[in-house]
Amino acid sequence: MSILSSVKTGKVIIAGAGPGDPELLTIKAARSLQRADVILADRLVSEQIIENFISPGAEIIYVGKQCRRGISTPQQTINDLMVHHALLGKLVVRLKGGDVSVFSNILDELETLSKNNIPYEIIPGITAAAGAAAFAAIPLTARGYANSVRFLTYYKSNVVTDNYWRELADTDDTLVFYMSSETLSQVVEKLTHYNIHEDKLMAIVEQATTPFQHVQIKNLYDFKRDSSQHSFISPTLVIIGRVVALHENFKWLKNSNTRENYFKPLTNQLISNNQSENITHVS
Ligand code: SAH
Repeated sequence: MSILSSVKTGKVIIAGAGPGDPELLTIKAARSLQRADVILADRLVSEQIIENFISPGAEIIYVGKQCRRGISTPQQTINDLMVHHALLGKLVVRLKGGDVSVFSNILDELETLSKNNIPYEIIPGITAAAGAAAFAAIPLTARGYANSVRFLTYYKSNVVTDNYWRELADTDDTLVFYMSSETLSQVVEKLTHYNIHEDKLMAIVEQATTPFQHVQIKNLYDFKRDSSQHSFISPTLVIIGRVVALHENFKWLKNSNTRENYFKPLTNQLISNNQSENITHVS
């Protein structure tokens, strides 16, 4: 038997870390983190998860993306890192913010793993919409308010046609916009242009489920008239629909008045803390 054939291929676990609050991590994800040799972590993963759930010898590689800051780990680098460490026989956890299948590059990663015959598992996480719905008390499909919910994004204007906007303005479905805080004025412009009903309100939920959660409820037409510049702390989720009115009745968390970032913005520097020798920052 050659030396090579006796080397065991490792495995990659693609796991969701939930939206922020570290206690929203699943037990299954926590257990896989405890066993992991290498963790490839997104930016939108709570530092407390990294600090509390990984074993001391594990290597943490930050592979975050933050396109609006122009800093991003290329997907190819992430794919290469997964393959490299798995072929060394390691257990790799690819830890993603929220759920793994919602607005993430999981397809590229699955294709890479499959092409390289690397065994894998997928562990779901609580997506930001579910986290924000709970922590801002906005039941997404509340009876009598909405029959269904849509997860959308509007970070690229060319992906949505005018007919699509007309339909979005008209539907009784709750609309949840991911990655759209920068383009929010355009979202509001389109929906009001197609006469979205005034009783469909908008919730802007910054840093949902973290100690810095901040919720603002707006009427879309008032938002449009307000000429001040809007800027929101990342990450921000936007929920639009009749269900948003329920926030006022059922909210159970006070807004944080600090404007701190729970998830640290990406930098090119190495992160320094007591585990610094095991931490690499790729960008
Ligand atoms: N896979 C993730 C989404 C990744 S896209 C999930 O399932 O949640 C990143 C976007 O998710 C952000 O731009 C923001 O719109 C949203 N998001 C993620 N975490 C959030 C949080 N704690 N609060 C508000 N929005 C969040």
